[in-house]
Amino acid sequence: MKFGWSHAGVGVLVAIVALVPLAAPQFWVTLGNYIGLYSIAALGLVVLTGVSGLTSFGQAAFVGIGAYVTAYLTTQHGTSPWLTLGIGLVFTAALALFIGFITLRMKGHYLPLATIAWGISLYYVFGNLEILGGHTGMTGIPALEFAGFELKDERRYFFLIWIIALLALWATHNLLDSRPGRAIRALKGGHDMAEAFGVDSVRLKIVVFVYAALLACISGWLYAHLQRFVNPTPFGIIQGVEYLFMAVVGGAGSVWGAVLGATLITLLKEVLQDILPGLLGRAGNFELVVFGIMMVLLLQFARDGLWPWIEHLLPRRSAPPLPEAEPLPTRGHRPADGALLRVQNARKQFGGLVAVNDLSFDIRQGEIVGLIGPNGAGKSTMFALISGALSLTSGEVLLRGESIGNHRPFEIARRGLGRTFQHVKLIGSMSVLDNVALGAYLRGSSGVVRAALKLDRAEEARTKAEAARAIARVGLAAQTFDAAGSLPLGKQRIVEIARALAADPALLLLDEPAAGLRYLEKQELAQMLRTLRSEGMTILLVEHDMDFVMGLTDRLVVMEFGEKLAEGLPADIQKNPAVLEAYLGGVV
Ligand code: ADP
Ligand code: MG
Repeated sequence: MKFGWSHAGVGVLVAIVALVPLAAPQFWVTLGNYIGLYSIAALGLVVLTGVSGLTSFGQAAFVGIGAYVTAYLTTQHGTSPWLTLGIGLVFTAALALFIGFITLRMKGHYLPLATIAWGISLYYVFGNLEILGGHTGMTGIPALEFAGFELKDERRYFFLIWIIALLALWATHNLLDSRPGRAIRALKGGHDMAEAFGVDSVRLKIVVFVYAALLACISGWLYAHLQRFVNPTPFGIIQGVEYLFMAVVGGAGSVWGAVLGATLITLLKEVLQDILPGLLGRAGNFELVVFGIMMVLLLQFARDGLWPWIEHLLPRRSAPPLPEAEPLPTRGHRPADGALLRVQNARKQFGGLVAVNDLSFDIRQGEIVGLIGPNGAGKSTMFALISGALSLTSGEVLLRGESIGNHRPFEIARRGLGRTFQHVKLIGSMSVLDNVALGAYLRGSSGVVRAALKLDRAEEARTKAEAARAIARVGLAAQTFDAAGSLPLGKQRIVEIARALAADPALLLLDEPAAGLRYLEKQELAQMLRTLRSEGMTILLVEHDMDFVMGLTDRLVVMEFGEKLAEGLPADIQKNPAVLEAYLGGVV
């Protein structure tokens, strides 16, 4: 799935926005207004749930905050509505920060459950606070005024809603195609992937959560001044489910999915509310049942929603040529005096199982060291202790003499570690270029605001140029614009190496890079690693393929049952009886 800001789409939408209020019957204008409001709130969920994989049922509550803040301040204190928008945004940001800080550390199903909990709580706060009018709500909210115009008329209001919706779509589209955007997309692949390139995943999740909440707040503010009264009903958990549904139906990976989802659900609801009670012979919210069934079908058959289908029908845009740009500045790692990496009595226990048993070894600058051993020896666990994915039970890991044991992966990446994954972790729908550009995260500095306002283009051009260079370096230039997921597994491993190189690391950690490669590909990989070494790179290679490491590495550390079995030159290791026994007698 691409985030193509298709020109045709924009053109059609702008034309509709311009023409509907002039020509369409009142009913359609009203519907258009609601679709615009829903699109803005659903857009937040597209980013939060669709792109970064954090399911929230609580979006409606933030719409409520936007609506109630302006309702309260304009009716009780006569504050100007334009000022209440600012106040609402600040208040929403503070609340989202607070809620996000508490809940976004949760994993798995706890997060969606938590969003249901605070979604319901906020609903009851609206309903039970006397000053907010309780369940009857608040009336007398003033109409917006703009340059002396009163926006009382729904046809005029339509323009305001859709100008804001289009701006939100534009900003969000920009955001997703940027340095923070790539990091946000990486969140869906799990903490490990984003953090391996220096992204503080917890902090970024909170940022995304606040962004989504701010869009909801804007939607709520617009809603309050359109309706001119508020009560708690539209901000409850059912509406929260509906927003989520819009994001999922439309296509939770594209900004256009928000508009598509909001349109489909709003129209469908209109139709179903007309038809179903007649068919069933009684009144009720039957559309919810239909939505539920649709949701199940969709998750079964069209995980990415309906937008990708529509995108297929639109004219395909070829990838833009890469702009000419200076390379990114190198990170200027300071050389190590002594060992670059030192592992001292590293120990990892999983309950009673000692996976790494007081292991010690050094890696000097400019060396390729192989960590080998039969399956289950503890190599990957040792790798995870170095990269920060696991914490040490005891012992120490030092990079340039500085302790990195028990630091989080993104902190270790910031100190110069680059890595690949044993089980490939790429964003399959994203191009090879964008995947590799994620690797250069630490070499850029653009944040969410700069990205959303498209002020990051110079740095982006340099990042893309750098990524293209890393891709060419590993021999995949012809695949630069292909979706990473469409490549054979062997090539995906090479993309991971390019991504790690784009970070300009001081130490490169590769976990079984030759697994799944054919003979010739292995030879090419070995040649590439030798070239990297000749350019000064230090590499730790975890492998269980003995042949691959023999001609390539400077030194080998052999593990068995979590312990160091031998260490030395490859030629000596090859003759070592204990090693031969472990390999031949072991479970290779
Ligand atoms: P290798 O990479 O050398 O094949 P691993 O480091 O993956 O070996 O595994 C070493 C041992 O630790 C194995 O016995 C494995 O089952 C165990 N192990 C690895 N990860 C975990 C975990 N998260 N929880 C429990 N046991 C684990
Ligand atoms: Mg392993």
